[in-house]
Amino acid sequence: MMNVIPVSILIVDDNPAKLTALSAALAGMELDIVTADSGVDALRKLLVHDFAVMLLDVNMPVMDGFDTAKMVRRRPRSEHLPIIFITAERIADESKLQGYELGAVDYILSPVLPQILRAKVAVFVELYRMRIILREQSIHDELTGLYNRRYLNESLPREIERTHRKNGKLAVIMMDVDLFKPFNDIYGHEAGDVVLASIGSMLKEHVRVSDVAFRYGGEEFTVLLPDGDIAIGTERAEVIRNAAHGLHLHFNGKALPRVTLSLGVAEYPLHGTTGVELLDAADAALYRAKQGGRDRVEGAGS
Ligand code: GH3
Ligand code: MG
Ligand code: MG
Repeated sequence: MMNVIPVSILIVDDNPAKLTALSAALAGMELDIVTADSGVDALRKLLVHDFAVMLLDVNMPVMDGFDTAKMVRRRPRSEHLPIIFITAERIADESKLQGYELGAVDYILSPVLPQILRAKVAVFVELYRMRIILREQSIHDELTGLYNRRYLNESLPREIERTHRKNGKLAVIMMDVDLFKPFNDIYGHEAGDVVLASIGSMLKEHVRVSDVAFRYGGEEFTVLLPDGDIAIGTERAEVIRNAAHGLHLHFNGKALPRVTLSLGVAEYPLHGTTGVELLDAADAALYRAKQGGRDRVEGAGS
């Protein structure tokens, strides 16, 4: 997981002097400050960046702050972006309400005391960091550091869609630790956890950069291999199976016995065209690997 979360904020004002003053007020907050001199410029910057908060001048020619806010809200990427409006003169409550309805979180009358601006911005920077941390936690498995099943459920349909668009192939490996129940019974659950964590590290080390490894649940793992076919998937599964042989693990100063993996491989679109079908096909192959004596790789439909 990331240690320092980079945070960007967007300041939008048609007046260059104000842009400079607002940026200067926020200097030293360890923020990446991006400026835009019009609503259109802001929308362009929102296409390529995620921001913790947007400071938006209400009075701008062509597209004013409110019009800009409306457009910002329509974009999925910035749908929830907090907007702080900046105004040079006091504005009527009805007008303010209109802004709040568009998702404004605050109004600041300029010129503003730098300390006040910093305090207000800091709230949204903190919320942004919390949101990133929560998101990271929600898609990772704590024990192994791999992605979890929630993220598999999110990324598999996306990966299939991408593969479909370019008429490609996608391989999926399902694997399960052999005879892990007796292992836990003999060496204890904590020793079992050590094994699972080291399988996690081993997977990170032995998949290609484009491959993604997940803890599917319990002692089961999944690897997605974009652009991989059944041959590539099988080859990678053999690498993983062998790497498990090479794990020499210890718990409480004592060597643990070797664990082995059974693996099943399936290919999109050959063995399934939906995520469920593909995982089922890999799982059926995995089942055959278990039936065949474990510590082996089986391909779907073979
Ligand atoms: P098989 O070769 O057929 O897969 O046999 P198995 O014993 O591995 O199969 P089974 O599904 O019966 O057992 C899975 C075991 O994995 C049972 C459970 O205690 C263990 N397990 C699941 N999650 C965890 C975990 O997070 N930590 C530990 N230590 N054990 C776990
Ligand atoms: Mg199992
Ligand atoms: Mg098992």
